Amino acid sequence: MAQDITNFIRDLFGTDGPVFLHEPRFRGNEKAYLNETIDSTYVSSVGEFVTRFETDCARTLDMPFGVATMNGTAALHISLLLAGVENQDEVITQPLTFIATCNAISYCGAHPVFVDVDKDTMGLSPTALSAFLEENAEIRNGTCVNKTTNRKIRAVLPMHSFGHACRIDEIAVICEKWSLALVEDAAEALGSRYKEKALGSFGKVAALSFNGNKILTTGGGGMIVTSDEALARRAKHLTTTAKVAHAWDFTHDAVGYNYRMPNLNAALGCAQLEMLDEFLISKRDLAALYREFFHDRDEVFFDEPTDAQSNFWLNAIIMKNLESRDAFLAKTNAAGIMTRPVWTLMNRLDMFKSCQRGPLDAAEWLADRVVNLPSSARV
Ligand SMILES: *Cc1c(COP(=O)(O)O)cnc(C)c1O
Repeated sequence: MAQDITNFIRDLFGTDGPVFLHEPRFRGNEKAYLNETIDSTYVSSVGEFVTRFETDCARTLDMPFGVATMNGTAALHISLLLAGVENQDEVITQPLTFIATCNAISYCGAHPVFVDVDKDTMGLSPTALSAFLEENAEIRNGTCVNKTTNRKIRAVLPMHSFGHACRIDEIAVICEKWSLALVEDAAEALGSRYKEKALGSFGKVAALSFNGNKILTTGGGGMIVTSDEALARRAKHLTTTAKVAHAWDFTHDAVGYNYRMPNLNAALGCAQLEMLDEFLISKRDLAALYREFFHDRDEVFFDEPTDAQSNFWLNAIIMKNLESRDAFLAKTNAAGIMTRPVWTLMNRLDMFKSCQRGPLDAAEWLADRVVNLPSSARV
């Protein structure tokens, strides 16, 4: 008889107790660096760990500039502002994502427009994006305009689900053609690549998250990543109350945000970043064990897409249908194994259900079937 899934997962994590979806691991210099911040008294909004974390983290994406923020949602908000998103603009995104993606669009006073994902990436589909634009958009005076709503479509915001790359190079070409800014929600994708290139390095700007459940954590935190020095400077300005640099004077030249990451959190981030390669190896190893376990079962292991190198942040399986999904969730959770369905589709939430959308067949299919499995690094 096939080995029971709950026993298999217990064996993987070597515990008889509860198995969580994703736990942080602190096996490096975390305590040493945190103590350094306390000894120095620089625990708050300035300190050398912030700069170091920004530089080191951006470097893992082969990008020159990173601006740390207090969470990933704040990084997304500022990224959209940097991309030129204004009040009453539209931003095309996928319905299969975490709420932060759409909240950030709303914070700009803009409207999400939902376009389908690809079944094999769970990320925004370039085919669906292109079809939506051909049908609904036109270029007026160099700006992409939605013919139905007469609003400007300013940016496209794809999300790399669970660390698996969407077809981001094709999306970049479409954005170029339609004069749209490409902003990547790479919150789940630190350490992932597509055609050898780091996710988060394909667009004008990208946002990362270091929330407690992400591949590495700063407690709470995020980062804006860009290759454009002027945008990086603007990001720093906007996230630090738009204060004009001066030896003593308090002058601010815009309504800015207090979005900066405290030094305390950045210290944790620096230590965590030193562990990233180890985390990635451990997670790839875990994915291989899940792949092997599921290869002769009804559930289908969601593997890394063609040309992608995933960080396997959260492993996922695809169930046959909604009933088998719910049965699986009930059984595993009752046994203390934390498994989770994918998010409620954004277009089904009250705040966003009147937003314009294209056909969403793949997203709806996935929403009924995806289950995430415990995926903590085993280090
Ligand atoms: C985690 C996450 C974010 C950012 O979340 P914060 O908790 O604000 O750091 C944004 N988008 C996606 C898709 C995420 O998974």
